[in-house]
Amino acid sequence: MDAGKNQDPSKDLPGLYRVSFAPTEQSKIYKEGNRIMIELVGQGRAPLSFISADSYKIKVKPEINIDFVRDSSGKIQKFLWLRKPQKVQWTRIEEGDHDSSNASNDNLSSMTGRYKLKNNPYRILIIRKENNHLTYQVADHPVYELKSETETVFSFRIKDYKTDFEFVKNGKGKVEKVFTEESGPIEWIKDQNESGQVVSKSQNGFTRADSLRGMLTPLRTCYDVTFYGLDVKINPETKSIEGNTLIRFNTVQSFDKMQIDLYENMKIEKILFHNKELSYTREFNAIFIQFPSMVQKNMQEEIHIIYSGKPQEPDISTLKGGFLWFQDKNGKPWIESVCQGSGASLWWPCKDHLSDKPDSMKISITVPDGLTDISNGRLIQKTELTGKLTRFDWYVDYPINNYNVVVNIGDYAHFSDLYVSGRDTLNLNYYCMLYNIEKAKQIFAHVKPMLDLYEKDFTRYPFWKDGFTLMESLYPMEHQSAVSIGSINNPINSDKYDSSDLIRTTWHESAHEWWGNSMNCKDMADLWIHEAFATYAEVLCYEKFYGKDAALKYLKSEPPGNKKPVIGIYDVNDFQLGDMYTKGALMLHTLRNIIDNDSLWFNMLRELQEHFKYQAVNTEDIVGYINGVLKKDYTYFFDQYLRHAAIPELLLTFKRQGSDIKLQYKWKADVKGFSMPIKVTVSKNNFAFIYPDEDWQSIILKDMKPKDFKVDSDHFYVLVKEEEK
Ligand SMILES: [Zn+2]
Repeated sequence: MDAGKNQDPSKDLPGLYRVSFAPTEQSKIYKEGNRIMIELVGQGRAPLSFISADSYKIKVKPEINIDFVRDSSGKIQKFLWLRKPQKVQWTRIEEGDHDSSNASNDNLSSMTGRYKLKNNPYRILIIRKENNHLTYQVADHPVYELKSETETVFSFRIKDYKTDFEFVKNGKGKVEKVFTEESGPIEWIKDQNESGQVVSKSQNGFTRADSLRGMLTPLRTCYDVTFYGLDVKINPETKSIEGNTLIRFNTVQSFDKMQIDLYENMKIEKILFHNKELSYTREFNAIFIQFPSMVQKNMQEEIHIIYSGKPQEPDISTLKGGFLWFQDKNGKPWIESVCQGSGASLWWPCKDHLSDKPDSMKISITVPDGLTDISNGRLIQKTELTGKLTRFDWYVDYPINNYNVVVNIGDYAHFSDLYVSGRDTLNLNYYCMLYNIEKAKQIFAHVKPMLDLYEKDFTRYPFWKDGFTLMESLYPMEHQSAVSIGSINNPINSDKYDSSDLIRTTWHESAHEWWGNSMNCKDMADLWIHEAFATYAEVLCYEKFYGKDAALKYLKSEPPGNKKPVIGIYDVNDFQLGDMYTKGALMLHTLRNIIDNDSLWFNMLRELQEHFKYQAVNTEDIVGYINGVLKKDYTYFFDQYLRHAAIPELLLTFKRQGSDIKLQYKWKADVKGFSMPIKVTVSKNNFAFIYPDEDWQSIILKDMKPKDFKVDSDHFYVLVKEEEK
């Protein structure tokens, strides 16, 4: 399984790409025979013609250049889409709603309505007026705000990309058509490989702000959060929120100053302690709160933080989280908070460090009437408020990661079911867009068999009292007891959907309830604990539902890069994805085969879950506990796969001795004392363990030719090299 040598350079182009500023706009690059194809929303598919290495064009008029961009390790990161500027004409087919009550807005209102593309009447542009500016939407893409350039010319601009809109009036002053013209490159970020696995996007360089966020200083360890109460009003019209957060904590040390985190773009109205306002200073996304006198140790105290603002919007090219403000196919608001990595403090004040989870939490979300909010835990109350508002009160009865706390707001359909396990019954709640109920039912039908498997292999579902909620959402994420699988509609063709990929996503995100939510890493650097096990859970699902060959095929579908260690840098909130998924899963698969005893292996998985339930852990905790359960020291093994970029290399020499072979073998690895057992053919087609270490050892293989010799690379993720000796 050697990844990397003598490969066709176009090999890693295929995958799913998303527009950097609009993650729901997607394109697919794939191979068809020897041709590389691109498939695009609303525009169908076309072959890419080769220009030079990583440069292609699409032969349409005007021509489109596609330039792939690689990162320093040679992996494809994105492509730049550049079309020669050309005016496109749209004709109005329907007028918008005029707001004649406000004369000053008549000019804007006169532009609103639906327009169809010349030569493609199925491609529809919608111009709306919202809060005194125009927005545009093409097909079911996101809604973008237009800036006014002149009375009839508007533009949308982001980074170097720009679209101009020129509205043309007839003799009577009525808008009849609009010309659009795009210029500048659009960045398409590679999001998934061909097999659907998430691609790495690493951040480089760490700052003071990263340390404030990632390090456990005395200003943070002096208190231990026991409860968060969130009361947040969501204003889709202005993409803003107003919140009041209650933070209840035990004082671990006496102190008169503490750190809370809230992004600097959010405005603090006031901070209250025993009904008195506290003073504070801010540095980047940290707030340093000053108490009037020492708060004594071993007390239970609480503060309220009243705040408001527009939470940042996501940029997937840098893994930046935020609020997604979209509209569904019917034009209703569809909103999701996504903050793994960036942190919950982008929208609510908290101790934004993975090491400190509250014991429970209340999440009250107020939204405009007609919309549903789905947050974590159990819905305990829904209250109609004055001003055409509805409040949803959710209660989480377990410890929860800050980044798992979520709002999913939309015009959702809801249905429920029960999962019976022994004498207990678990509430299953399902949500999807109104127009996707049939598709959703097909996907959600896979939940019970999956829960059966996970309960058997990992232990009982950890958040029983909260129930298990699975939903369609804008973006897939493992939000605790409110797991989301992303949008059901295939972005390429919204009438089709990829049920197998949605089922795989269901397996992955749901597995995080055990690996990532119940047990989570203390520091982002150890995020492999979440992703390796969740990816491995997918492998277990393939094995259970489709057989061992399918599981193996999936494991091998995306060889890791092995350019950087899986474990990141501690104390700086080092959030990056990458090899932790497949390399992590391959490492676990290898360990299972070293142990070579499935009852011991699954017992170990269950013991890990049982022992670290609801806790934050680090790599040493996990490795130490595994060593204890297996009564063997595998530290060398984890160190090599997690703390070094390279994987172990098995060095071999062969010498013919009559009809036998003398095989010599040893490991080449970064870790001293690396001594992993591995299976090879000791006689023709008969695999058995050998026990290589750092010194040459030898074995006589009876009646074998070198070409009959095999290393069991289906079950052990290593490199193999024949040495001249
Ligand atoms: Zn994951």
